[in-house]
Amino acid sequence: MKSVALHTLGCKLNYSETSTLAKQFEGKGMKLGQYGEKTDVFVLNTCSVTDNADRECRQIIRSVLRKNPDTYVIVTGCYAQLQPEEISRIDGVDLILGSKEKLRLFDYLENFDTESPSCVFKENGAKIYVSGLDEVNSEISAAYSADIDSRTRAFLKIQDGCDYNCTFCTIPLARGGSRSLPLETVLDNAKKIIDAGYKEIILTGVNTGDYKYSDSDSKETKKLIDVLYGLDKLGIDRVRISSIEPNLLTDEIISLVKSSERFCRHFHIPLQSGDAEVLKLMRRRYNVELYRNLIHKLNEELPDAGIGVDVIIGFPGETDEYFNNTAEFLSGLNISYLHVFSYSERKNTLAAGFGNKVDIRTRRNRSEILRSISAKKKYDFYSKYIGSRQSVLFETSVVRIDGKDYIEGWTSNYIRVKTPYNPALQNKIKEVELNNLNGIGPADCSL
Ligand code: SF4
Repeated sequence: MKSVALHTLGCKLNYSETSTLAKQFEGKGMKLGQYGEKTDVFVLNTCSVTDNADRECRQIIRSVLRKNPDTYVIVTGCYAQLQPEEISRIDGVDLILGSKEKLRLFDYLENFDTESPSCVFKENGAKIYVSGLDEVNSEISAAYSADIDSRTRAFLKIQDGCDYNCTFCTIPLARGGSRSLPLETVLDNAKKIIDAGYKEIILTGVNTGDYKYSDSDSKETKKLIDVLYGLDKLGIDRVRISSIEPNLLTDEIISLVKSSERFCRHFHIPLQSGDAEVLKLMRRRYNVELYRNLIHKLNEELPDAGIGVDVIIGFPGETDEYFNNTAEFLSGLNISYLHVFSYSERKNTLAAGFGNKVDIRTRRNRSEILRSISAKKKYDFYSKYIGSRQSVLFETSVVRIDGKDYIEGWTSNYIRVKTPYNPALQNKIKEVELNNLNGIGPADCSL
């Protein structure tokens, strides 16, 4: 039996798509190996959000080929869509597939047969199949479920691409414009996830809040709120909306999350900058006031909600004053953690041509400052819940810490917890008491 290992970099959408690819390989009778194992085929689903992401992709391909020069290497994802020639210069890469081709991988492996798969032949030079953006824009493929923590939580793709054209972002170039899956497909996939035993669905898309599907028969346009109402009726234990643009997190969505126990008390809301001028340069679709009001509203309506914030430092034109505005703005918000990204010039974006670049050392310092604000926010957030009872979805793996075995999970509002390993807890939602803080690591809990 031939074997394949798949590895993913980047966003949740990539993870859900890799999972779909894994199922396709299994359907062809191939054995799934772990990343790092010697396998006949290796698939890398890449990201291209920063220069570092591109570099990491190249390093992974080289390291896989060093350990296993005979493996058939397939590279797909955003980096493959944007820079296929660059990847093809790595000796040993066999097949490069763009965004449109990704989930049709087997169309590009002629006469596939698991006994002697034609794909497991070494040929000279990589074959490149990458459609232009017009074609990428013309369709959307469904993808769902990923064994992020072994049949506990699953990603559900509802949307792909983005129409926003923020000046720093390559995603619209790699994944095309915003397209959404029909509501019926989304709910069918959700049912399959529930039937497979998962307890939590995490909504996934490039710009999930922009979900919009116009039914050609009824002429009705379905929005994200319709997806949420549909999921609420299906009977899954938990739905996590996760990442949503601030201008798209409506009062109706907040009310639904408040009224239904199924929706996790957790939002991840990109800010990118807390300075009005930088936000304008980024061409984000909201201003600082809108963001502040939204966080205040969430604090009032859902006081226990975990709120994560994406922020980019070192954007061209970000002076010390502008950066300080961002740091102060974030310090003053009642939020629970930050994801800090250092700005990275991406080819073919407007921002790459902007003047007033911020030097690398300043980017590094600013990044450190925000990371320490994030650590404090997270510590304060976790501290508030010590002594309280929370429901936790326990995962399935054993985590070894200082010679002892633990099992870990997430609360609805995104606090990581751990307790001594007990297999009876696997994939179960349990009420626990949070009883000990371990810095910003998983808090101890007991049943
Ligand atoms: S909203 Fe902006 S940053 Fe997010 S994917 Fe769209 S263009 Fe990129």
